[in-house]
Order: sequence, then structure tokens, then C-alpha cells
Amino acid sequence: MRRVLVLGGTGEARELASLLAALPGVAVVSSLAGRVGAPHLPAGEVRVGGFGGADGLAGWLRDHEVDAVIDATHPFAARISGNAADAAARTHVPLLVLRRPPWVAGDGDCWTEAADLAAAARLTPTLGRRAFLTVGRQELAPFAGLEDVWFLIRSIDAPVAPLPPHRELVLARGPFTVAAELALLRRHRIDVLVTKNSGGAATSAKTVAARRAGVPVVMVTRPPPPQGVPSVTTPQEAVSWLRAQSG
Ligand code: NAP
Repeated sequence: MRRVLVLGGTGEARELASLLAALPGVAVVSSLAGRVGAPHLPAGEVRVGGFGGADGLAGWLRDHEVDAVIDATHPFAARISGNAADAAARTHVPLLVLRRPPWVAGDGDCWTEAADLAAAARLTPTLGRRAFLTVGRQELAPFAGLEDVWFLIRSIDAPVAPLPPHRELVLARGPFTVAAELALLRRHRIDVLVTKNSGGAATSAKTVAARRAGVPVVMVTRPPPPQGVPSVTTPQEAVSWLRAQSG
């Protein structure tokens, strides 16, 4: 049996776990951080919670005799990806990064790129007064000091304080349709969208809706991926990589 650890928390990680669970001779364990109250669970074994940094993860890989790690975490989950690169290098366990491609601005898009959330918060009041904020429930602090902007904040679970003073919360989990996103933008008279460049189909409708509504977008760019780690963009390519490892 080859034991594969999938660092998860994304749709791609779940898809990969299903593909791996169906492979003969492969035992898959998916790891979730435990941030979402009722996560969609992947196929196969699941463990939940942090490992205790790169040291803890390296120990876990040794203790559980892991043969390969696939980091299929969210493109903005930089800490766990760095820890995975560190732990895999130390334990000599092969590591692959699975990352969906970023969204790319097309004709009619009006995007301003921000290097991080603090930069996004500085840009927001220069572009609008009624912002649709979809950056995740734990990263709202940079926006908390913005007195002149009203925010529609969307997250899966309740957001973590500090929050901006003028706001309305919507708890919802994608996928979202363009029609529903357009209706939301219009209902709340949104004049700027603030989002991370997560990529993927499940939440891309908001960017299409913003283009159609002529709403500018503050697009937070991704943190750099760990250096020197091979990467693929689809679960199927990750399966091919794993096959090549055992061949
Ligand atoms: P992060 O900042 O990179 O990681 C913070 C800590 O959380 C890590 O050091 C690790 O704790 C623990 N952790 C993160 N992912 C883990 C996993 N898959 N399994 C076990 N422990 C994990 O991560 P984050 O941005 O908070 O994201 C947390 C999870 O939510 C990730 O699994 C990610 O795929 C998912 N997610 C994140 C976003 C986002 O925008 N950041 C969006 C959607 C989903 P220890 O150091 O103790 O091991």
C-alpha cells in the first residue's frame, strides 16, 4: 500500500481524494485545518487540525510512513504550503503542489491588483463606497478601520472580528451563478468588488457579474508558491505524478 497525504480544504483536494481512493494499492488520508464548521468531507480517511508547524508535520509523515504528499490547499494558504515544503524536504518524502490557475482579466474587466489585503483595504475607498467583500472570514481586520465604506461581507461561517463598522453579513457557500451574483450586486448597489485571486469555477461568477455590471474589482494577487516544488493544476495530473513516483 502506498500512503498518500493530501493537504486539503479545496474542491480540487476532494476531487483528488476521490480519484486516489479508487486506485488499487493507494491509501489516501486527507488533512483539513478544521476552519469550516461543517466541511464537505473527501473520500477516504480524513484527519482534522494543525500538525504543529513544519516540525509537527515532519513527525507526522514519519510516524504514519507517508510515501507522498500532495499539497492541494488553497492558493492563499501560504503557511501550510511552506510547512509542507519544509517537512517534505527534511523527510525526503516526494511533494507535489496542486493549484488551480488564477483568474485572468479579460475584455471589459476593470481590475486593480493589490499585493495583499492591507493594500486592498487602502485601494477600496478610492474605487467605491459600497463594497462586496469576499476575502474569507478571517482576513477582515485590514478593512475594520474603513469608516467611509459600507460592506457586504460574504463568508461560509460567521466572520471573525474586528469587522468594518458599516456592514451586512451574508453566510453562503459556493458555487454561485452569474445571475445570482448580478442580482446581489444590484440589490445592494455595490460599486466595488474586493476578492482574492482564488481561481476556479466555484466562485468565479462574481468576477463575471462585476464585469457585466461595470463594477471595478480589487483583486488580491496570490502569495508566491513554495520554491522548488513541482506543481500541477488538475487532480488528474496529480494522479499521473503519483503513478510516475511509484514507477
Ligand atoms: P494557512 O494560513 O496556510 O495555515 C495556518 C495553519 O493552519 C497551518 O500552519 C496549519 O497549522 C493549519 N493548516 C492549514 N491547512 C491545513 C490542512 N489542510 N491540514 C492541517 N492543518 C492545516 O492556512 P489558511 O489560509 O488558514 O487555510 C486553512 C485551510 O482552509 C487550508 O486547508 C486551505 O486549503 C483552506 N482554505 C483557505 C482559504 C484561504 O483563502 N486562505 C480559502 C479556502 C479554503 P499547523 O502549523 O499547526 O500545522
